[in-house]
Amino acid sequence: LTAPGSPFAVTEISIRGVPTRIWANAPLTLRDIFVAGRAHGEKTFLVYEDERASFEAFSRAALALAADLIRGGVKPGDRVAIAMRNLPEWPVAFFAAILAGAIATPLNAWWTGPELDHGFTDSGACVAIVDEERWARISERRAGYPALKRVLIARAPAVAGAESLTDIVGAVPDWGGLPAGEIPALAIGPEDVATLFYTSGTTGRSKGAIGTQRAGASGVLAHPFSAARAFLRRGEPVPVPDANAPQKVALLSIPLFHVTGCFATLVPNLSRGGRLVMMRRWDLARAMALIARERCTSAGGVPTIAFQLLDGMAAGTHDLSSLETISYGGAPAPAELVRRLRAAFPKAQPATGWGMTETSGTFTHHQGEDYVHRPESCGPPLPVCEARVMDPEENPLPPGEIGELWVKGPVVVAGYWNRPDADAEVFREGWLRTGDLARIDEEGFVTIVDRAKDMLIRGGENIYCGEVESVLYEHPAVVDAAVVGIPHPTLGEEPGAVVAIARGAEADEEGLRAFVAARLAAFKVPVRILLHDEILPRNPNGKILKNELKRLF
Ligand code: AMP
Repeated sequence: LTAPGSPFAVTEISIRGVPTRIWANAPLTLRDIFVAGRAHGEKTFLVYEDERASFEAFSRAALALAADLIRGGVKPGDRVAIAMRNLPEWPVAFFAAILAGAIATPLNAWWTGPELDHGFTDSGACVAIVDEERWARISERRAGYPALKRVLIARAPAVAGAESLTDIVGAVPDWGGLPAGEIPALAIGPEDVATLFYTSGTTGRSKGAIGTQRAGASGVLAHPFSAARAFLRRGEPVPVPDANAPQKVALLSIPLFHVTGCFATLVPNLSRGGRLVMMRRWDLARAMALIARERCTSAGGVPTIAFQLLDGMAAGTHDLSSLETISYGGAPAPAELVRRLRAAFPKAQPATGWGMTETSGTFTHHQGEDYVHRPESCGPPLPVCEARVMDPEENPLPPGEIGELWVKGPVVVAGYWNRPDADAEVFREGWLRTGDLARIDEEGFVTIVDRAKDMLIRGGENIYCGEVESVLYEHPAVVDAAVVGIPHPTLGEEPGAVVAIARGAEADEEGLRAFVAARLAAFKVPVRILLHDEILPRNPNGKILKNELKRLF
């Protein structure tokens, strides 16, 4: 099951009388992943527009930057913020921070000024590695980030207050000519903190989810595990992959600052020697051109992208026949999607999964025939992970019953950064309360049925209603506000708001939208804001009746 050069042990055991090989050890650290990746040598790893970097070239750039970070004073446990769109420099920055023993802290590239203020001050990052657009957003504000000592800008010359990343590692075509470099001799263990990914907060502020080395490395198990399970279910031995098989080529169209982009795409491809074709942002026409040009074997990300690929296939303008896998997760995927993918892409396996920032990405995984036969499920948990369903009194429910999904395992984060209040709310003796409503069948397949948390998902991006509502409440004319999901054919949902305006006060929809847009990332801005004459309808406990408000749209 492992790639040549991989450090992970494989053991032959017998399951129900079938001799098979399985991973005996889950990967231990992200540094192990880096070492496994470097073993793929001169094969192409990163493709971005016309730029290409081999595994070796990527490794040299990451090691050069790691050494520079250490020379610049980064100590184990320091936070190194990464605020960029998808660029080849993103994985370099991420692994450089990890190899330097620091905590890689990806910040959402869509964040506006006030959201970035929170990311920098909450994490206390001492170094920021940014692209030009993020630099433009923080250059005037960084006086408010006292911990931030150093800013490195990718693909730009040094300016007052910021150094050039290119001065340290060179441009992508030159990475292969950098010195071989050495992995810094630091004690890094599986339980050490490696990452801080920011999740949206139910009460407004984003929370940093503390990820360990082991958690970040575990996503590499998902696909091989699902594939092995499919053979076992048919009673067949799991074939050992051919070391000389052609290289897998993944289209990376979702942001690396999300766990799905980083842990479910970047990390497994590095470990297994897959090529990553990076898109700065999702765009169907561009994606199809890249799939055809690079002969991509996998694509996807979120269900919205899979739906668009169906449209693209129907248009017939590009040769998409290289696709072997179309995978997506992060938002509900209707059972219909699997059927349509099967019909449109007979050679490609659909794959899905459920996960959250707090589970370091993929927690359940589902692929191929298993998935086609249970299209409503998001699969069983990864190996050594456990899931259960609980009633509101926090008692476990039997198979088939619906309750809150609780999960446990090495992929679950160690807690929230400086948020004991949120830890107390969400963690129970090693279990994470997910806020999703689910059922689990006798065989351990999980089906998500609804969300208990007040959130909507727009094309894979979570929007916590509370965060948008609290911004609306900041507007002097607003006396009551509720944000709800409006159904959208490809995005799944879009945010809509209903607000009550103070008597005698003036406000209109456009003004309110502009008010929100100045404070929150564009995807969180309600596409429609309805003005309501009176206070919003509530149940006897004072909770706003959101289902009633949804009907207004
Ligand atoms: P995030 O932390 O941004 O990754 O969002 C995690 C949330 O996305 C989960 O708690 C779910 O509510 C939702 N989600 C993720 N995967 C799925 C899925 N396969 N089906 C339904 N909802 C999902």
